Amino acid sequence: MRLDVVSLAPEAFAPLLSLGVIGRAFAAGIAALHTHNPRDFATDKYRKVDDLPYGGGAGMVLKPEPVFAALESIPVLARRRVLLMSPQGAPLQQSDLRRWAVDYEQLVLLCGHYEGFDERIRTLADEQVSIGDFVLTGGELPAAVVINGVVRLLPGTVGTAASLDDESHSAGLLEHPHYTRPAEFRGMAVPEVLRSGDHGAIARWRHEQQQQRTRERRPDLYARWQAQQP
Ligand code: SAH
Repeated sequence: MRLDVVSLAPEAFAPLLSLGVIGRAFAAGIAALHTHNPRDFATDKYRKVDDLPYGGGAGMVLKPEPVFAALESIPVLARRRVLLMSPQGAPLQQSDLRRWAVDYEQLVLLCGHYEGFDERIRTLADEQVSIGDFVLTGGELPAAVVINGVVRLLPGTVGTAASLDDESHSAGLLEHPHYTRPAEFRGMAVPEVLRSGDHGAIARWRHEQQQQRTRERRPDLYARWQAQQP
C-alpha cells in the first residue's frame, strides 16, 4: 500500500515509522509513506500557503494553488483514493478502514490547517473524513489515525488475521473482556468459566459479554446489531 500525505507539517508522520507493529510494517515494505509539503509548491517569493478569507472573518485559509500542485506531483496508481481530513467529513468507521485497506493500493491524505482550506480544495477529494465531532488544529493527527487503522489491516502487519475479525467494531459488537495471569489480582478474580477449559462455555460467555457490554456502553451500536440479527 502506497500512502501519500499532503501536509504543511510532514514531520508529524515520522513517529508512525517507529510505532510498534505499524513501524515494522513500514520497515517490511508492507506500506510505504511519502509526504508532500504544499509549501514546496508555493510559487511566490514568500512561499505563502495561506491567505485572508474573502468576506472577512477570523483566521487564515489554505490557498488552493500549492495544494493542487502538491497533489498533481504525486504518482497515480490504478486503484487510488483521495481522502480529505475535515471535521465536516463522514465520521470514520472501522468499515471504512477495511474498505480502503482491501480496495485500494494507494491512499492520498490531504491535511488542512489554520481556519481550514479554500473550498475548491474539496473538489480534489473522493471522500471527506472526520475522526469525530471535535476540532483539531490540523489534519495530521486525523491522517495518522487513518494510516494506523489501515496499515494494521494489511496482510502481514498483525500476527493473526483472526484477531482482526473478533475485535470491537468488526462484527457490530464490542469485544469481550480479556484476562491473563495471575488468576487473582488484588482481590479481583478471573471469571471461573475462562479457567474451566470448556471451550463451548467460554464461547457462549464471551458472546454474552459482548452483547452486555455493547448494550451498556453503546446502545446505538447494540440497536443496529439487533436489527441485523435473523
Ligand atoms: N474551521 C474548520 C475547521 C478547521 S480545523 C471548520 O469549522 O470546519 C483545521 C484542519 O484540521 C481541518 O482542515 C482538518 O484537516 C483538520 N481537522 C480538525 N478536526 C478534524 C476532525 N475532527 N477530523 C478530521 N480532520 C480534522
